[in-house]
Amino acid sequence: DTRQQALFIIFGGTGDLAKRKLYPSLFELYEKGFLKENFAVIGTARRPWTDEYFQEVVRKSVTVEGTSKEDADEFAQHFYYQSHNVNDTEHYVTLQKLAQRLDEKYSIGGNRLFYLAMSPRFFGTIAEHLKSQKIVTDNGYNRLIIEKPFGHDLPSARELNDSIGRYFAEDSVFRIDHYLGKEMIQNIAAVRFGNNLFRALWNNRYIDNIQITLSEALGVEERAGYYETAGALRDMVQNHILQIVSLLTMNMPASFTESDIRREKIYALKALQVYTPEQVEENFVRAQYAGTSGLKGYRQEEQIADDSKTETFVAGKLFVESENFSGVPIYIRTGKRLAKKTTRIDIVFKDVPKNIFGPEKLGKNILTIIVEPEGEIYLQMNVKKIGQNFGLQVQKLDLLQSENDDSPVPEAYEKLILDALRGDATNFTHWEEVAYSWKFVDAIRTAWDKKEGPLVEYTSGSMGPHEADDLLAHDGHKWVFSA
Ligand code: NAD
Repeated sequence: DTRQQALFIIFGGTGDLAKRKLYPSLFELYEKGFLKENFAVIGTARRPWTDEYFQEVVRKSVTVEGTSKEDADEFAQHFYYQSHNVNDTEHYVTLQKLAQRLDEKYSIGGNRLFYLAMSPRFFGTIAEHLKSQKIVTDNGYNRLIIEKPFGHDLPSARELNDSIGRYFAEDSVFRIDHYLGKEMIQNIAAVRFGNNLFRALWNNRYIDNIQITLSEALGVEERAGYYETAGALRDMVQNHILQIVSLLTMNMPASFTESDIRREKIYALKALQVYTPEQVEENFVRAQYAGTSGLKGYRQEEQIADDSKTETFVAGKLFVESENFSGVPIYIRTGKRLAKKTTRIDIVFKDVPKNIFGPEKLGKNILTIIVEPEGEIYLQMNVKKIGQNFGLQVQKLDLLQSENDDSPVPEAYEKLILDALRGDATNFTHWEEVAYSWKFVDAIRTAWDKKEGPLVEYTSGSMGPHEADDLLAHDGHKWVFSA
């Protein structure tokens, strides 16, 4: 039976994430039959909402064109609201009673998922109260799902982890990195380990370099206050980009299971070369977007200091010093106000040792995985030009295009919530992955924080400052994707 029974308690139930992602994802799981009668959701936040009002919010958030009104109504009836201040012990007493009542009403059997969709500074106190006020059950599972950011450096991440770990064991903590729920990110393992062709070539003997791009077209928008304290390195590199690096460079796991996969990912992240300040200077570039006519530059945005040194763009070269990847440069870049919103991975293979066809350079074999906006995988190859004479041309072999596949792509959150219901943490970040990632990122941050003077600026709508191109040019390479 694929049906799940669980009580969800969502902290931050009135927030943006809950409305935009969590309720629609739960509704999809409901529509697909994974959630049926035996589930209920308690939304908690500070606002004094009634159940009726909350249900109205939920109905609205799940309703798109073609949604059945009947289903949305039925679904919303499983939602309850409890006004709650996470620092107030009394509130947990009422929450415990409500949880108990709903558990009985929906015959849930003690399974609980606590989703912390609010600021991490509250995680410790929530975890503590869940335990002390007996909101965790002893007749079912108790899982804690938490959102990024997981600390702002290794010491703060460790402190956060300890504050949760006192009450929840590692195997019941599900750290969300929503990139891991994306279809094309999950495809990396399929391509690598399901095809002997790629399995054989996936190493430093055949791969010349790897390029990872996570670009956004928008500026900081409403998130300025948070962004100013984070910057691109913490916001995108520490989690999403390094997770992609680990999936691309890990050794083949003994089996496709949570513990084997995570073991190999941890090993890959442990093998990241941690830079000295001089190496940071050589291998990493940071910058801020400049203003244009009509668009403000980063330092002119509201809530941003005029002398801010927060980077809105970062590019770098890194190395995973494992047997198979030692010596392969991995170029990464991410930023705001770039030419296009896209997430893509380009694996550039080495040139054939000798071109027997002529003096000119052959095109490179490049395997491209486009994660967004549409999932695509293609391989660039050299083939003969049709005709009397013998000449070569570069062609793209389409391996996959999501529009050719009629199954609709599930939203990342929908996949991850179902995984959490099933107790499968494969696509969640293990604490050790978090720790090794921070160790790598902290070395960069520390070197940057010691530097005086303003940051380099880049033109909005470009792919970043020329320094990001120079990084590759210096090694005789260039970005496969350019504006
Ligand atoms: P939000 O500001 O929209 O919502 C915060 C929620 O927390 C609200 O429901 C608020 O009432 C509640 N809250 C705040 N203080 C409280 C208190 N003392 N007691 C009880 N409730 C309290 O934030 P959001 O955008 O929904 O993000 C939530 C978390 O998810 C954040 O940690 C954020 O970094 C992370 N996150 C959000 C997104 C996104 O797309 N919004 C993406 C990734 C990660």
